[in-house]
Amino acid sequence: MTTEQTFVIVGAGLAGAKAAQSLREEGFDGGITLIGAETELPYERPPLSKGFLLGKEDQAKVYVHDEAWYGEHSVELVLGSRVTGLDRGSRRLELDGGGHLGYDKLLLVPGASPRRLDVPGVELDGLHYLRSLEDSRRLREAIRGGGRVVVVGAGWIGLETAAAAREYGCEVTVVAPQPVPLRAALGPEMGAFFAEVHRRHGVDLRFGRQVTGFVGEERVRKVVTDDGAEIPADVVIVGVGVQPNVELAVLAGLAVDNGIVVDASLRTEDPDVHAAGDVANAFNPRYGAHIRVEHWANALNGGLAAGKAMLGQEVVYDRPPYFFTDQYDVGMEFSGWFAPGGYDSVVVRGDLEGNAFYAFWLAGGRVVAGMHVNQWDDGISPVQELIRAAVPVDPARLTDLSVPLADLAKS
Ligand SMILES: Cc1cc2nc3c(=O)[nH]c(=O)nc-3n(C[C@H](O)[C@H](O)[C@H](O)COP(=O)(O)OP(=O)(O)OC[C@H]3O[C@@H](n4cnc5c(N)ncnc54)[C@H](O)[C@@H]3O)c2cc1C
Repeated sequence: MTTEQTFVIVGAGLAGAKAAQSLREEGFDGGITLIGAETELPYERPPLSKGFLLGKEDQAKVYVHDEAWYGEHSVELVLGSRVTGLDRGSRRLELDGGGHLGYDKLLLVPGASPRRLDVPGVELDGLHYLRSLEDSRRLREAIRGGGRVVVVGAGWIGLETAAAAREYGCEVTVVAPQPVPLRAALGPEMGAFFAEVHRRHGVDLRFGRQVTGFVGEERVRKVVTDDGAEIPADVVIVGVGVQPNVELAVLAGLAVDNGIVVDASLRTEDPDVHAAGDVANAFNPRYGAHIRVEHWANALNGGLAAGKAMLGQEVVYDRPPYFFTDQYDVGMEFSGWFAPGGYDSVVVRGDLEGNAFYAFWLAGGRVVAGMHVNQWDDGISPVQELIRAAVPVDPARLTDLSVPLADLAKS
């Protein structure tokens, strides 16, 4: 495709870097500008709460592409620069340094930012949020020597950092308002499995409790909860979810509802503006609903798909969501989707206590989601085949280890 056009990508994260890659792979030879507020090359965030935080994974490994790749593919990388304005009429972006930039097609991939707590004492030293490489580096310094760590929130970030802190030998307490961890993502059944994993590793779990404040002089010394408990803390990690970075879209008058609203081809109501990754609330025809997915695979595949869609190719982004986590000796992959409480039962195939099993979420007799723990021979593929097949399955056969999962997808 020979063109003088310039495609601009706002957000130099995983989705942005993958979109640039996709544009070149699909033969686009116009200008590509990838703008990012951070000063780092685009990088992947999962290691920041796992291998990189634990000092087991090099920084060089987290980058989506090495520095040379951008030059070799004529992708102009503008780092340390925040886009502050978007005028769709004149197709112009405003940058925080005062500069402007025109575009022919625009991709918004600004990701998400950690939700902040609003309770007394949040300004104290020793409180950590985790989103960036720099956040992870600072947290590593804070926990590598041990000490008392209180984690606020029992979602993925909370649990993964709790596991990392235990591996560093810290005393760890997790405080969260829900009765089990990961309740929104997995429901109570598999939430209870993760609670047990952490209990076994000596984490003090305080569920059903809200944090009402932090106490200390300059540094945090205690975390106060709504039952009046004061939990001693040297370090606090706050992982209470993220919010999509929708400011530019709002400024530009694009539809925003739990993220930037896009269709199945990741396009906003403006044909020249697409959105993908954590920020996009995309229509998924498989589910007949808009869903916003805050996971690595969605940024990767959504970025690739958005590149194609910007070129006018037919794109239907209908992948079942996918997520993975590593905590202690538990390696897990999950795929699928259900609205909160939107399943009838969860069945387990294998050895739950021994951390070697599959779990399936069933609705209307069909598998709508599944996960495996440490089943790396077949991994998540059989789960995704069952979801795609959407055939009725007999729970007794699903849990019978003598029945191959592949046979069930055919039934
Ligand atoms: C610590 C951590 C661990 C994770 N672990 C897992 C995991 O194990 N498994 C999993 O599936 N997912 C995991 N995730 C989620 C996954 O990393 C995200 O879904 C993914 O990073 C989203 O990519 P993105 O490109 O949409 O956004 P981001 O990675 O957030 O990138 C967006 C970029 O845009 C920049 N930006 C924002 N606004 C502007 C602007 N106005 N101008 C210019 N630049 C801007 C931001 O600074 C950022 O660099 C993890 C996330 C974190 C933080």
